[in-house]
Amino acid sequence: MSLIPKSHPRVKSLLIRKKLVDGFDNGLVAKEGLLAQGRGEAFDYLLGEKTGKNAKFAIRAAVAQLHLAKMPVISINGNVAALCPKQIIKLSKQTKAKLEVNLFYTNEKRKNAIIKTLKNNGGKEILGTNSKNSIKLSGIDSARRIVDKDGIFAADVVVVPLEDGDRTIALRKAGKIVITFDLNPLSRTSQTANITIVDNITRAIDVMISESKKLSKKNPKSLKKIVNDFNNKKNLTENVIQIKNNLSRRAKIA
Ligand code: ATP
Ligand code: MG
Repeated sequence: MSLIPKSHPRVKSLLIRKKLVDGFDNGLVAKEGLLAQGRGEAFDYLLGEKTGKNAKFAIRAAVAQLHLAKMPVISINGNVAALCPKQIIKLSKQTKAKLEVNLFYTNEKRKNAIIKTLKNNGGKEILGTNSKNSIKLSGIDSARRIVDKDGIFAADVVVVPLEDGDRTIALRKAGKIVITFDLNPLSRTSQTANITIVDNITRAIDVMISESKKLSKKNPKSLKKIVNDFNNKKNLTENVIQIKNNLSRRAKIA
C-alpha cells in the first residue's frame, strides 16, 4: 500500500499518466505522444504540480480572448482526446468554439478513434474529417499543414494544446491569435503563442471552464482590457522564475 495520500499531486500525476497510457492502448495516442507526456511531466514536477498564479492569469486572458473571438477553433490531438475529452467539449460549448481534429502523426485509424471518443463525450460537429474541405496551411511540412477550410483556416483565434513549435509559428504567420497549453515555458510553442497557459491541461481546463462562466457576463470592453493587460513574455518569465524558486527550495531541503 502506498504511503502517499490520494490527494497528493504526485498521485494525481500518476493518474494522468495512466490516462495517456490507456489512450495509447486504445489507439488514440501516438508513440510520440507518450514522449511529449514525459517531457510535460518533467516540467510539471518542476512547477510543483499545481495551477499557479501565473497560469491563472494566462487562463483569464485566454478565456477573455475566446469570448471576444469571431470564430474560435480548438484543435484536438490524441493526447488531448485521451486526457480531457469531456472538459474540452464543455469549453468549446461555453465559448462557441468549433472542434477540429488535427494530428501531427496522421493515421486514419487513430483519427477515427479520436472522433469516436469526442462523440462519446458529447461532441457534435467535429471538423478535420472531410478531405473535400481540407486546405494546406503554408510553412509546415507535416500532416498538420492540412486544415479544414471552415475550421482552423478560417478561424481568428485557435487553441492548440500540447502543440509543436512549427505549427504554432505557421499559425501566427497566417495571422491567427494562438492560445496554447504547454508545461514547458521555454518551448517554441510557448514562446510563439499569444497566450501560453503553463499548466497541465488536465488541471487548467477545469479552471478555464469556471472562468468562462464568470467572464461570459462581461462586456467586450472589459474583456479587451483583460487581454491587453496580459503580457505573455512577462508571464513566461514569471513561470521560469517559479521553476527556479522551486528548485532552490528543493535543493535546500535535500
Ligand atoms: P516545441 O516544438 O514547441 O519547441 P517540443 O518539441 O519540446 O516543443 P512537442 O512534443 O513538440 O515538444 O510539444 C509537446 C509540448 O506539450 C511539450 O512542451 C510538453 O511539455 C507539453 N505537454 C505535454 N503534456 C502536457 C500536458 N498534459 N499539459 C500541458 N502541456 C503538456
Ligand atoms: Mg516540437
